Amino acid sequence: MRVVRVRYAEQTFYAALYPEHVRPLGERIEAPRSIPLQEVALERPVQPTKVVCVGLNYHAHAQELGKEIPAEPLLFLKPPSSVIASGETILLPPQSENVHYEGELAMVMGKTCRNAEIEEVPEHIFGYSCANDVTARDLQQKDVQYTRAKGFDTFCPIGPCIETDLSPEQGLGLKTLQNGELRQRGSTSDMVFPPARLVSFISGIMTLNPGDVILTGTPPGVGRITSGDSLSIEIEGIGELQNSVQDQG
Ligand code: ZN
Repeated sequence: MRVVRVRYAEQTFYAALYPEHVRPLGERIEAPRSIPLQEVALERPVQPTKVVCVGLNYHAHAQELGKEIPAEPLLFLKPPSSVIASGETILLPPQSENVHYEGELAMVMGKTCRNAEIEEVPEHIFGYSCANDVTARDLQQKDVQYTRAKGFDTFCPIGPCIETDLSPEQGLGLKTLQNGELRQRGSTSDMVFPPARLVSFISGIMTLNPGDVILTGTPPGVGRITSGDSLSIEIEGIGELQNSVQDQG
């Protein structure tokens, strides 16, 4: 099932997504059982307590940044305030001259998870989505910590939906397009540390709550975005995350 969070008639609720309509999930929602897609606004599909990110999780991306593959997953956090929906605008902050897109597979937690073994991970996952780990590359190189470079408002587009029936270990194609031109192409099977391993590793450090998001790293081909760009991150079996880019002003 593809799950979206939508705004309709001054209510926000979760719904199942179909090609032309949505069906509200949950019984207490006062809305028709089927609503045409053009009558709802997509909201960000998750409200995480944290977004845990993994750096350098594809060999070729580490190579293009001139960095070694880490022996263990390299973790950093993006604040919940950076999350936006598909269709919203990425705002370029005045502090950076060089902001990059990073197309990534996002995992969304379904159950509280602490110290999970790899084989216990699947039962804790709600589903998968597309994400953009927007990064101020100049600030990332300048600062030792990634917090500033990765943490600006709007720097974490996620969506359009959460697909609940999917297995990324089999290899899902991931593509990033900038103004319609192909910039990144990868497969989730090329990850250095596969998704279940990541969740097990992270849950040994911090409790993962329902709705928390894990970004699994980006394939090669990262590049600069500028005001007026349109970005699309497409993952096989999930859909297309679309965002425009503007100066913060
Ligand atoms: Zn990233």
